[in-house]
Amino acid sequence: MNNKPFIKRALVIGGGIAGIQAVLDIADGGYEVILVERSPSIGGHMIQYAEVFPTLDCPQCIMTPKMVEIAQHPNIKLMTYAEVQKLNGSAGNFEVEILQKARKVDVKKCTGCGTCWQKCPEKVSSEFNAGMAKRTAVYIPFPQAVPAKPVIDTEHCRYIHYQQYMAGKREGKKPPECRICEKLCPVGAIDWEQHDEIVKEKVGAIVVATGFDLMPVSRIPEYADDPDVLNGIQFERLLSPGGPTAGVVIRPSDGKTPKEVVFISCCGSRDPEHGVPYCSRVCCMYLAKQALLYKHAVPDGQAYVFYIDIRSTGKGYEEFIQRVVEDGVLYLRGKVSRVFREGDKLRVYGADTLSGKRVEIAADLVVLGMAVMPSDGTKELLIKLGIAFDEAGFVAESHAKFRPLETNVPGIFVAGMAQGAKDIPDSVAQGSGAAGRVLTLFAQSASADKALAVV
Ligand SMILES: Cc1cc2nc3c(=O)[nH]c(=O)nc-3n(C[C@H](O)[C@H](O)[C@H](O)COP(=O)(O)OP(=O)(O)OC[C@H]3O[C@@H](n4cnc5c(N)ncnc54)[C@H](O)[C@@H]3O)c2cc1C
Ligand code: SF4
Ligand code: SF4
Repeated sequence: MNNKPFIKRALVIGGGIAGIQAVLDIADGGYEVILVERSPSIGGHMIQYAEVFPTLDCPQCIMTPKMVEIAQHPNIKLMTYAEVQKLNGSAGNFEVEILQKARKVDVKKCTGCGTCWQKCPEKVSSEFNAGMAKRTAVYIPFPQAVPAKPVIDTEHCRYIHYQQYMAGKREGKKPPECRICEKLCPVGAIDWEQHDEIVKEKVGAIVVATGFDLMPVSRIPEYADDPDVLNGIQFERLLSPGGPTAGVVIRPSDGKTPKEVVFISCCGSRDPEHGVPYCSRVCCMYLAKQALLYKHAVPDGQAYVFYIDIRSTGKGYEEFIQRVVEDGVLYLRGKVSRVFREGDKLRVYGADTLSGKRVEIAADLVVLGMAVMPSDGTKELLIKLGIAFDEAGFVAESHAKFRPLETNVPGIFVAGMAQGAKDIPDSVAQGSGAAGRVLTLFAQSASADKALAVV
């Protein structure tokens, strides 16, 4: 046991809904907390959705106040566009090295006026819109971003390319010097001299809330690689009033209204041979939600949902499924063997195991409920933190029943999808739960021995 003072300051890694909840609870409990988020804004996946089941709330409306509170809370230090690089020490005395990536924008000067991103000529695929729209090289990921200050994406910025070319580090045609953002910024906030830096912090406890990514559609070759075959997040963006089509549902290939839409559950989930063995827990529910929202957007359209069995175990979830069925969404029990392009249509071959018949649908659009997986890079992070993970790469809790939020490292806790597939209410509950564990640790840390007995 060391004699260093126990540091009552926490670190939360990942600014999705689980991390947001954990940070706010720790800060409201009276302790300082650092939130490290690797993308340019907090919000995670929830902020991408059109509406959320089962209550069909607008996620932007219910999340934005929490995000703004994080930016303004006196106990919270928010570090976006940042990643944890290294960890030393133990509970009560962790030393963390955080890579703060250069935004190339002086956030103290920037007013968030938007001139730079409105005028930047370089357009690239938008991560926030899951590739369904473009963004500029200098950008904020979405209008409610926190912080509402842009970053310059150095991989795509014309001036950075120009500099690389002039330094002999880039071949091909000479890129234009551009610098339009710099010329037009009214407060001189563009800062080409800003470089990545390592920030060292000391904390007593850590919460890992790094969330999930979807399994790539390419992992299921039976389903065509086609602009009209979308994953769930892409379809959320199409349904969203703030999305690239302002919530008007169109077929990406030609902009026509899709009249027959097929939703396929368990794409990669519960399929150890081709995907992952576990149930992704949210696909049954979000596909039902999306089928319902599609019916609201295109009342004369037909939605079909292929399912193996419907897992609707949350509060109000079964009632929600019943409502979706009553609203005319057609549920077909069975698997889809193939999806392929045939002229103007996507042909979907499946089986209805209840009637024992083969089903063939000429669809305009297909939405795949792809398996959820630990977010990209989680394994590397967990190795740096010394945290054990399961076969799928989710954080292994120290006891599945009695210590579901503890990791094998005392003082490091887990919340949300980083621990395994779950919905928003469970992610929020875990965020609060992990914060509770941190606050207990701090409360009992008068003597380090006593503190470590509770972790
Ligand atoms: C298409 C779809 C629709 C859904 N709809 C609903 C719904 O209607 N209702 C519902 O209850 N649930 C829904 N869900 C489930 C919901 O998305 C999750 O429960 C929730 O997003 C989990 O929150 P999280 O904070 O754990 O993870 P995430 O939302 O994934 O957030 C994790 C955050 O951590 C950051 N991060 C990742 N790695 C690092 C790192 N190394 N360092 C720093 N930061 C990092 C990420 O950038 C991200 O901001 C849906 C899921 C999908 C796929
Ligand atoms: S133009 Fe300048 S002040 Fe306006 S958002 Fe861009 S960097 Fe910020
Ligand atoms: S230099 Fe040009 S390409 Fe680069 S961010 Fe500024 S406006 Fe965009």
